[in-house]
Amino acid sequence: MTPEQSSEFRALLETTRDELSASLEATADEAAPVSPDSSIGRLTRQDAMQAQQMALALRRRNQVRLRQIEAALERLARGEYGVCLRCEEEIALARLRVHPEAPFCVKCAEWR
Ligand SMILES: [Zn+2]
Repeated sequence: MTPEQSSEFRALLETTRDELSASLEATADEAAPVSPDSSIGRLTRQDAMQAQQMALALRRRNQVRLRQIEAALERLARGEYGVCLRCEEEIALARLRVHPEAPFCVKCAEWR
C-alpha cells in the first residue's frame, strides 16, 4: 500500500469513526430503558419498548464496528493495514473502500 493510499484510508476510517461516535451519542437516550412510570397507554409503552430494542440492536452493531475501525487504525499506525489477518495476503482496495475496517480478505471472510 502506498503512503497516498494509507492516508486515503486513514481519512476514511477517521470519518467513519467520528460518524459512528456521533450516532452512538445521539442515540444514547433512545436506547435507555423505557421508564415503567411513563404514564402512557399500554400499546404506546409496547411501541416505546420495541423502538428501544431496535435502537439497542443498532447501537450494538455500531459499537462492534467502532471497535473494528479503531483496530484498523492501530494496524494502519503499525504499517500492517490492508493485510488479511488470516492468510496475510493483501486485501483488495475495492473491498477496503467499502469496508475500510475489514480485517480479512474476501476469501477468508467467506470461510468464517
Ligand atoms: Zn485472507
